Amino acid sequence: MIKFLDLYKINERHRKEIDTRIKQVLDSGWYLLGKEDENFEKNFAAYCGTKHCIGCANGLEALTLIIRAMGFNKGDEIIVPANTYIASILAISENGCTPVLVEPDIKTYNIDPDLIEEKITPKTKAIMVVHLYGQAVEMEKIWNLAEKYNLKVIEDSAQAHGAIYQGKRTGNLSDASGFSFYPGKNLGCLGDGGCVTTNDAELAQKIRAIRNYGSHIKYHNIYKGINSRLDEIQAAVLDVKLKELDNDNNHRRKIAKYYIDNIKNPEIILPETYDKDAHVWHIFAIRTKDRNRLQEYLKDNGIQTLIHYPIPPHKQECYKEWNNLSFPITEKIHNEILSLPISPVMTMEETATVCKVINKF
Ligand SMILES: *Cc1c(COP(=O)(O)O)cnc(C)c1O
Repeated sequence: MIKFLDLYKINERHRKEIDTRIKQVLDSGWYLLGKEDENFEKNFAAYCGTKHCIGCANGLEALTLIIRAMGFNKGDEIIVPANTYIASILAISENGCTPVLVEPDIKTYNIDPDLIEEKITPKTKAIMVVHLYGQAVEMEKIWNLAEKYNLKVIEDSAQAHGAIYQGKRTGNLSDASGFSFYPGKNLGCLGDGGCVTTNDAELAQKIRAIRNYGSHIKYHNIYKGINSRLDEIQAAVLDVKLKELDNDNNHRRKIAKYYIDNIKNPEIILPETYDKDAHVWHIFAIRTKDRNRLQEYLKDNGIQTLIHYPIPPHKQECYKEWNNLSFPITEKIHNEILSLPISPVMTMEETATVCKVINKF
């Protein structure tokens, strides 16, 4: 069977080094906010090209921490793509702010910058972009709007570690960016993990406190904080895997290119990228009118696929107030999208097999 993602195989490549580093943490007797967290924060900030990185418990809380630290009030509006993973939107709701959904561009699946301005009101405080499926958002128009209306820009970079726009990596394209290190992400740990990157020293300081009960000094609480820390074992594992991130992303690019060059089936719409460095192919999403039948057919031929995502946020039960709204592009994407296997441990033989099987559909 060709698995969608073989996490065991991915981590097995680093077994020796991970074993050693976990043992070191165990032996150190210090398990939270210690040397490993500090070291990984330094290395990940350097990788992204930002001045600061703050480890936290997961990607959702990375975004939550950013919004909390920016100090928005109840009812403030934050613009977000309508087809994102639910976590981007939950982080806004969690802070009492109002998510304002904007349709994506059908070609890139990223937020359509030309549809943002009409959604800006006096209550709008920020634009949250999501580098969906691993492709960096083309930021130019977003930056211009932010300047014109005095808005903050937040990146959800949970799917795009290492993607590049105009020579800069994701995480370094906005006021602050949230990353997830969930095991299946391009850079993943052995459990939950996340971080915030930013060039804003004051914001970084505040997030550092908020992630730790709102205190810099133990038992001195200056903010009503939360507990959202990256533990030492996960930081150590991430530090090992960070060294391979560029190689891993390049392997994903090789698979994506092979798919694009070799899938020749008129029923299938292939993903597009405006620049090869812009995409790190967290997900290789194709579209077809006959999605469910294609997924069954691939399964019968030993190929595992997934759907990112089957239900759009505005149709979710938890956002009943939006259930009657219409986002035709978002809905079309959710009905037609299918994610093919792609990972740093997928072989080119497997990739060729997937192409052959799809071309016979
Ligand atoms: C995975 C993901 C998140 C949330 O990350 P967790 O670590 O699972 O909380 C947020 N946004 C996007 C786009 C994601 O893919």
